[in-house]
Amino acid sequence: MSSESETVQVLACHAVTVAYAGLRAVSSVSFAVRRGEVVGLIGPNGAGKTTLVNAMSGFAQISEGSITLNGAEVSHLAPEHRAHRGLARTFQHGRLFKDLSARENIELGALAVGCSGREARRRAAALLEETGLLSLAGVPANELSHGDQQRVSVARAVVAGPAFLLLDEPAAGLPAESLAELGTVIEQARSGRDAGVVVIDHNVEFVMGLSDRVVVLDHGQVLVEGAPDYVRHHEEVLAAYFGSVATEGLSR
Ligand code: ATP
Repeated sequence: MSSESETVQVLACHAVTVAYAGLRAVSSVSFAVRRGEVVGLIGPNGAGKTTLVNAMSGFAQISEGSITLNGAEVSHLAPEHRAHRGLARTFQHGRLFKDLSARENIELGALAVGCSGREARRRAAALLEETGLLSLAGVPANELSHGDQQRVSVARAVVAGPAFLLLDEPAAGLPAESLAELGTVIEQARSGRDAGVVVIDHNVEFVMGLSDRVVVLDHGQVLVEGAPDYVRHHEEVLAAYFGSVATEGLSR
């Protein structure tokens, strides 16, 4: 793992374990993301990906290890306090305000971090355009497809200008033609806003294309970590995925 120097801003897990009634959903995982890099988090169903992101963002309690943000331990901070320190996330199931429009949901993401109404409207308008959601701006969230709800969720997280952005299956339900727009938004969060981004997705090709580095989880543990091309051809990764639906993007 990279060191947490004064200058490099890092979100890190140190030997983190999350246990549910005896099941170690995440088992002694060490993993870090620096600002300005995109890290893909992949693995078969039940590997522990969401649990790890829940632990990093404060939605799952860790039983061992620690989580640090720029060197300061945040393991016991509530999700909203981590959010105030610059950590934003999305959920597999959007968690949008169902009766509010796509635009209003995105504006709320900006208002929540203290933007004025005018600034929130400006940022939301820009993100609606970037995410390809402009034509759906006025549609209530509960009338959007799952894929479009995921896009709104990503925009709502990005609009806050976070230092770290954790995305749980942002491409789920999105048609192929919308993936490029989503990829651009994530890339802009990294390069334009210098965010450190963690992306979980079962579309392995999408994750590989975006990521500087990929971490593969299996049975709650880090199986392999490395550059996309290294991971793509790694025998243990292929074995872990064998028989799984999530093989797109892995070469055999
Ligand atoms: P998927 O790709 O299917 O979303 P995942 O890699 O994100 O899977 P997790 O959802 O983190 O995996 O689940 C890891 C393990 O922990 C699974 O065995 C799951 O059943 C279990 N688990 C997750 N959340 C809970 C919970 N709240 N209570 C009990 N067990 C849980």
